[in-house]
Amino acid sequence: MEPQISERNVRGKIERDFSLKKLNTWHIGGNAELVFWPVSCEDLLKGRSWCQKNKVKMLLLGRGSNILLPDEGIKGMVIVTSMLKNITWQEKRIMVEAGYPLSQLARQAADKGLEGLEFACGIPGTVGGAVMVNAGAHGAEISDLVRQVRVLDQKGEIMTLDREQIEFSYRTSSLQGKYWILECVLELVPGEPAVLKEKIRVFTEQRKNAQPLEYPNAGSVFRNPPHLSAGALIEQAGWKGKTVGGAQVSAKHANFIINTGKATALDVKTLINAITEDIEDKFGIQLKTEVQIFS
Ligand SMILES: Cc1cc2nc3c(=O)[nH]c(=O)nc-3n(C[C@H](O)[C@H](O)[C@H](O)COP(=O)(O)OP(=O)(O)OC[C@H]3O[C@@H](n4cnc5c(N)ncnc54)[C@H](O)[C@@H]3O)c2cc1C
Repeated sequence: MEPQISERNVRGKIERDFSLKKLNTWHIGGNAELVFWPVSCEDLLKGRSWCQKNKVKMLLLGRGSNILLPDEGIKGMVIVTSMLKNITWQEKRIMVEAGYPLSQLARQAADKGLEGLEFACGIPGTVGGAVMVNAGAHGAEISDLVRQVRVLDQKGEIMTLDREQIEFSYRTSSLQGKYWILECVLELVPGEPAVLKEKIRVFTEQRKNAQPLEYPNAGSVFRNPPHLSAGALIEQAGWKGKTVGGAQVSAKHANFIINTGKATALDVKTLINAITEDIEDKFGIQLKTEVQIFS
């Protein structure tokens, strides 16, 4: 008989044959065999142990705002962190679980007069996803604020890493591929709520004007090469508005690929490959993706 996992063994929500489209901001992908939303880190651990024992493949997801999921779906279990939202505010420090929405945290910090997270007001991911890839904007990065990270290693052991034990650089960290992030401690500085809220208003306005937020997308598709803008190179090469199937290079921001309705992962990958080849031919620059491509 096939092994079963159910809400009787773990606390949280479990769905079978669930559309991946509902789990990522591009709204792309086939179905996942199993999806599990644990309500606590303990339940996440239980789900993970169950998968290991039953040799079920796993993918950890936050908001799915930096990933392209496959048209053919996922055989195995997708574990989504979005219900891991415990938070403790301690003067300048915030202890926050991995599934907490980053943009909401940024707004709450501003309301409380804590400065440092305003850059994150328009980043639609989770805290865990943001720390994993060192998310950043407007000249700031989450690594500026990280003091400690509680992680799960590949053997299933929980440990606490201090900031000094983690390497962060442009859109990456030494945590990638090694750990699952369970919780983080961020440290902010005191600020004036009205000033911080105004900063957030300006950043939000800038994004609305510059990014195609009216369509499903996954933010910047390519990393900026050193001292250059990937968007500017793609625009110069004439890609704005070009489509493959339902995927289109945004006419508003050339580093965004939007889903105009029925885009598939194959459409997006075909565009990404064509752009990469063209930029290499025209400028001799090898673009690398910022979005993760699940394969
Ligand atoms: C409109 C828009 C604007 C954006 N703007 C920015 C921006 O300004 N700056 C920026 O840096 N990014 C930006 N992004 C990209 C994205 O929001 C960030 O990279 C975000 O940090 C991803 O978080 P997530 O929870 O959605 O991660 P997901 O997309 O769910 O996951 C991404 C990767 O991280 C892993 N992961 C997720 N959670 C964890 C965890 N708890 N532990 C271990 N691994 C984990 C996943 O396995 C996957 O490999 C934007 C995206 C959109 C759609």
